[in-house]
This record gives sequence, structure tokens and C-alpha cells, in this order.
Amino acid sequence: MVSALVLKNVHVSYHGKPAIQEIDLRVEQGNILGIIGPNGAGKSTLLKALLNLVPIDKGSIEILGSTLKENRKKIAYVPQRSEFDWDFPIHVLDTVLIGTYPNLGLFKRPKKKEKDWAYACLEQVGMEKFADRQIGELSGGQQQRVFLARALAQNADLFFLDEPFVGIDVSSEETIIHLLKELKDHGKTVVVIHHDLSKANDYFDQLLLLNKQVIHFGNPQEVLRPEIILKAYERELAFLHEVGVG
Ligand code: ADP
Ligand code: MG
Repeated sequence: MVSALVLKNVHVSYHGKPAIQEIDLRVEQGNILGIIGPNGAGKSTLLKALLNLVPIDKGSIEILGSTLKENRKKIAYVPQRSEFDWDFPIHVLDTVLIGTYPNLGLFKRPKKKEKDWAYACLEQVGMEKFADRQIGELSGGQQQRVFLARALAQNADLFFLDEPFVGIDVSSEETIIHLLKELKDHGKTVVVIHHDLSKANDYFDQLLLLNKQVIHFGNPQEVLRPEIILKAYERELAFLHEVGVG
């Protein structure tokens, strides 16, 4: 079986300033990978590089044994909630329908079949009762579930989620992690940027600790050791000392 992701010496910079460097990574299919690291560590940049939303300066990225271009439809992306304009006037069901577009073909409008499928995806995240609501009216957790439904509608093999648990309620978080584990059980690969170390052990099969470079990559027990975590959070700890907390 081909690997889900193979990155070799990947570098990305913004206006000449490096954001991520020397990223080497191999992720096999059927895993849930968590990416952790401090603010500004380049976590979102890494996902964007995988999606070709930012250009890489150097290195190579292989997705499902081939190029991103050939596999674009197989990747579902749930961006950070803060990157979405929540005033954008769109209904919940239409938001999910967008997920069916990659497989629909150019200029084809979604028909009953697609609408039924979008509705079924909403049911999976427990949001079918909200199908006719505006996305901006929903709570953070409900919005995140709708975005997951959109990703499900795409019928992807790879799922990328950027901080899906930020600012959401506990029951939405449980619904989402449960669904991600189901996707994994069906052989899908899930990559989740995560901010909270406490749950990382329960949620992920593998962890990537990032701070511009790969600090450590391995199973959670191996990565969640104080001496490893310290390597990535040195600056934050120095700050805590300065303000007299540490
Ligand atoms: P994280 O997701 O880990 O918080 P990001 O990938 O968002 O980190 O950012 C990594 C670094 O790149 C940060 O220093 C950030 O300020 C910078 N950066 C991110 N996006 C842009 C952008 N579009 N233009 C310029 N700099 C950016
Ligand atoms: Mg980010």
C-alpha cells in the first residue's frame, strides 16, 4: 500500500522569512496524525503546503504515491474557523453541497442525489435539523460540525483539519473525534492540527511536534515526554519565567 504522505526536505517561506524548514515526514494510510507546536510554529503552513495553497521553496511532497494535482479530489480540508468569513450568507445545506463539487464536474449543478447525500452527511454530524439555517447563526461547535459534514460529502481519502476543536463545546468535540476515528477505521488518513496537549494521547495514533522544523515525530507516548515538549516550547517557558509564573 502506498504511503498517504511523503515529505522530503520541504521548505516554505513568506517574503523570504522561513516558516517551515527541512520537513521530512512519512505517514501511512489509516492513521490519525496530530500536529502540535506553539503559535507560529508553521502548523497551518505545513497543511497549506500539502494542499498547494502556498508554494514550497524546496523539497518534494508525495500524496498517495503521486502528485497533489492528481489527488486533489481525494483531499478534504477544514480550515481554521478564524479563516472563514462567518458573515458570508450561505445556508448549512449549501455549505455541505460545496463538498460534492469536486466530484460533480464543471458547470454541473447539484441534483437530488447530491442533496440527499449532503443531507446524509449532515445527519452523520447530528446537524440535519439545521440544514436551512445560515451558517453565521450557528455556534462554533455547530459550524465546525457542518464543515466536517462538507469534508465527508467530498468522499475523500485524506482529511486535513486545522484546529477543529478551538472554541467549540465538549459534545461537538466528542462527535468530531468519534467520526474521525470511524474514518480511520475505514482506512482513511486524518491530519489534525491541535493546540491542546492533554487530549493528544487519546486522539492520535502519531504526533508531529513542530517548531519550524520537526522537533519529534512518533507515537504520542514517545512525543509527549517533558524533555521533548520542552524543546518546542522553550520560548513560551522563558516567557512564563519572566512574568514570574514558572
Ligand atoms: P501556526 O499555524 O503554527 O500558528 P502558521 O503556519 O500560521 O503557524 O505561521 C507560521 C509563520 O508564518 C508565522 O510566523 C506567521 O506569522 C507566518 N505567516 C503565516 N502566514 C503568513 C502569510 N500569509 N504571510 C506572511 N507570513 C505568514
Ligand atoms: Mg495555525
